[in-house]
Amino acid sequence: MMNLILMGPPGAGKGTQSKLLSERFLISQVSTGDILRANVKDKTPLGQEAREYMNRGALVPDKLVLEMVVERLSRGNCSNGFILDGFPRNVPQAEALDGMLKEGKKGIDAVIGIEVEKRELIRRLSGRRVCRTCAAAYHVMFNPPVNIDTCDKCGKELYQRDDDKEETVDARLKVYDSETVPVVEYYRSRGLYMAVNGIGSVDQITEAIVKAIGKGRGHT
Ligand code: ADP
Ligand code: ADP
Ligand code: ZN
Repeated sequence: MMNLILMGPPGAGKGTQSKLLSERFLISQVSTGDILRANVKDKTPLGQEAREYMNRGALVPDKLVLEMVVERLSRGNCSNGFILDGFPRNVPQAEALDGMLKEGKKGIDAVIGIEVEKRELIRRLSGRRVCRTCAAAYHVMFNPPVNIDTCDKCGKELYQRDDDKEETVDARLKVYDSETVPVVEYYRSRGLYMAVNGIGSVDQITEAIVKAIGKGRGHT
């Protein structure tokens, strides 16, 4: 049983790494971004409300996101552990998560922050392509699919997220600095935060994260 939080700015590789870590440790990946996009695609009430915030690169209101996370974490498949990807994104969400975990007598084992500088983030976001069906992420240059516009994993169509277009990327990076960087401090002050260099191959970064988790759990 292991409960992890994977942090990092947009494009740092959270989705890519958390999918691999969830397979490796047999824990559930909970990506608030993926869940929100699935709701937008299915035109659910949540999706309809969240959509405009996402399209302008703003955070979706906490109330909506928290309801969604409470529901996910209460599912049976999270009882073996989970990896949170893209949540918490501001201090009120981090505080709410602490409350939820306390109630369920659970805790966080490690918070990993993937560090990548802004110019590289912009390169990664501008070339990102995502599967509409299984949410796998590719990059036109750094991690291209075998067949252009087709997902290697499920064969379905790839697309460019609206919020990966230049105008919105800038807004998202600013929101990260103002809202999410304080969450790094929140976990650092609790001795849970560990930074990992996000530059290198996908496999190298996975190994660096696994090593950091080992260290973190070693002294708890
Ligand atoms: P990235 O990994 O590129 O940062 P995500 O897929 O995590 O992007 O998030 C995409 C968008 O979904 C965010 O810009 C925001 O609008 C919304 N979102 C995702 N997670 C949260 C969250 N925890 N709180 C509020 N909004 C969120
Ligand atoms: P996040 O969830 O943090 O927004 P993603 O995992 O979606 O990030 O990755 C963002 C983009 O960068 C994707 O196009 C992905 O294929 C690519 N990417 C992921 N890891 C690496 C890496 N180590 N080197 C280069 N590109 C990467
Ligand atoms: Zn797919």
